This record gives sequence, structure tokens and C-alpha cells, in this order.
Amino acid sequence: MTNTILVTGGTGYIGGEIIDQALAAGKTVHTTVRNQAKSEPCLRERWPDAGERLKVFQADLENDEGWADACTGCDGVAHVASPFPISVPKSADEIVEPARAGAMRALTFAQAAGIKRFVLTSSAAAIAYGHPPGQTVFDEKDWTDLDNPSVPPYHRSKTVAERDARTWVAAHAPEMSFCSVNPVAVLGPVPNDDLSTSIALVQRLVTGEIPAIPDLGFGIVDVRDVAKAHLLALDAPEEKVRNERFAVSDKFLWMKDIAAIIRERTPAYAGKVPSRKLPSIFVKLLAPLVADLQQIKGELGRTRDVSGKHAAEVLGLEYISAKDSVEATTRSLVEHGIVKF
Ligand code: NAP
Repeated sequence: MTNTILVTGGTGYIGGEIIDQALAAGKTVHTTVRNQAKSEPCLRERWPDAGERLKVFQADLENDEGWADACTGCDGVAHVASPFPISVPKSADEIVEPARAGAMRALTFAQAAGIKRFVLTSSAAAIAYGHPPGQTVFDEKDWTDLDNPSVPPYHRSKTVAERDARTWVAAHAPEMSFCSVNPVAVLGPVPNDDLSTSIALVQRLVTGEIPAIPDLGFGIVDVRDVAKAHLLALDAPEEKVRNERFAVSDKFLWMKDIAAIIRERTPAYAGKVPSRKLPSIFVKLLAPLVADLQQIKGELGRTRDVSGKHAAEVLGLEYISAKDSVEATTRSLVEHGIVKF
């Protein structure tokens, strides 16, 4: 069992949920943030009773400062921090190198501190992209094909970071028990108005910012299960998790299904949720002119159903249903006043 863990990216959606569950389980948590003066007060406000069991360190993925202190005294790392931009960056370099270098930094400083349990937050983006259109079902054996130029920058960043992390561990850290958790789109309750990119999907449906529903689909997993998977992976017997990849997913849903769930489960908040379809031909015609449409053009009609079965079997995860997760997202957006009625 780990007692003191480093969770990188404590300001983030997934990082915050891991901290929440780790503190509730009695662990001491170190966490990194980019700007301590700005972020530590917010974290202290979220966990007012944590006291000395929560230690906040300033560390950026792109330089060495702060990492040694953050790792000192820890026996496990959940490396969660990585760029997750809402819009496509102009060049892949903007996010691939920070993601890769950040993973390397977390690993090398963890090893120097004698840490033997390491869980990397990777993504289904490192599994299910760049494959022939006929492939619709994926699991941990699949790797995103970086030779395919259509793979977007974020998906490249996650694939390169995970691949290089695994290669480094195999070559330089045989003593380390390393595995990755690879979530599909993460939904669920939000703690504040600092929204992760995945939550923007539901937010924009509820606010009516998405005026018609494109033919897009996503695997859905709840943030509480993603955090649980990290903690289970950190504390499982080493032989069960060493070098594993754990895709975490409850179910693949089309956007029209997500809209229907919002209408069924939270009718009071569904007034602006669109029901008409956005014709795919329209998206393709306008894509050269509108950056957001450019981003989704290649995804229209595409099923990328990443199985979460292996994580359920090995870690004993029981997934919160995607329906419950969509409902929890909608309700918490309203409860926090992020979406107003
Ligand atoms: P998020 O809320 O945007 O969190 C990202 C975290 O990474 C933030 O704490 C952010 O810090 C930190 N970060 C980004 N660039 C950094 C840098 N250069 N130096 C230090 N910290 C940096 O997103 P999230 O949804 O929690 O995602 C967390 C992880 O899960 C990411 O690795 C993402 O790829 C992965 N993931 C997410 C989803 C999803 O649907 N949400 C699905 C699969 C995988 P700031 O607050 O300072 O920006």
C-alpha cells in the first residue's frame, strides 16, 4: 500500500478527484501546480481539513525546478499533468514536447527519490487513432498509429508521452512498477468552474452553444472511476499491474444519445439542448473556414469503442454508468452556477 503519493496537476479535473479520494483514504498527498501563489489557496479551500496531509509544490512540466522536493518522501506517483487544450494548437510541437518531457521528468525525479510505484495518466487518444476506418473496437493492445498524418496534436502528445515513458522504464528503471490508465472522455461531477475540455461538451449542449447535433460519438467514463483506477493501480499487488495498460470506459455514446440523456434525466435543464441533427455534409463544406469544425470533420460517423473490460477484471472497477455520469455532469454544472437558468 502506498502511504504518501505525488499527484501531478492538482489543479486539474482528474488530478483533483485523485487527491480527493486519496485524502479520503487516509493518504498524505503531495501535488504539483504551475503557480503556487495562485493555486494553493484554491486547493486549501477545496480540502480545508487536509492540513499537513496535503503539500503543494510549484513545478512545471518544462523545467526541473520543484520536482525533487515534490517527490521526496513519496512512495507512489500518479502523473496526471499534461497539456489538454480545448482548441487544436497551431503546431503539434506546442504540446507534444511538454507532455513527453513532463512524463520523463516525473519518472526521473521519482526514480531519484526511490519511488517504485508509478501510474501515468495516458488516454484512449494513445490507443484508438490513425487506424483504418473499418476498425471500430479497440483495447489495450492497440496503439495510435503516429505514421498516419491525420492523428491530431493532442493524440500525438499522449501517444508519444506514453510510448517514451514505457521505453525509458524498460531501459532505466527495472525496479519500478509502471502502468498507465487510459481514459476515454471523462465526465462526472465538476468541483468548480475550471472546466476540463471533456466537460465543455456537455456544457455546450446544455447552454445551446451547440445549435445542432453533429454525428459524433465518444467513449464515456466517470471521473470518480478514473481516479479510483489510479489508486487501485498504485496499491494493487505489483505483479498484477507492472507494465499494464488500463483503458477505462463504461460505454460509447453518440452525441444525440448524450442529448437524449440530458432531456430524460434533467428535463428542467434541457430547454436549450438541440434535437436537430447537424448534417455532416454541412460540416465538411464549412470545415476549411471554421477551426472548430476542422477539428471534428474526420470524426463524423466514426465509432471508436475502447473496451474498459480489462481494467474492470484486473483492478475490480465497477463502472458508474455513462447515463449517471452525464446526469451528474449536468447537475453539477447547474449547482456551481456554471450554467444558469
Ligand atoms: P485539466 O483539468 O485540463 O488538467 C490538466 C492539468 O495539467 C492541469 O493541472 C494543468 O495545470 C496541468 N498542466 C498542463 N500543462 C502543464 C505544464 N506545462 N506544467 C505543469 N502542469 C501542466 O484536464 P484533465 O481532464 O484533468 O486531464 C488530466 C490528464 O488526463 C491529462 O493528462 C489528459 O490528457 C488526461 N485525459 C483526460 C481525459 C478527459 O476527457 N478529461 C481523457 C483522457 C485522458 P494548470 O491548471 O496550471 O493548467
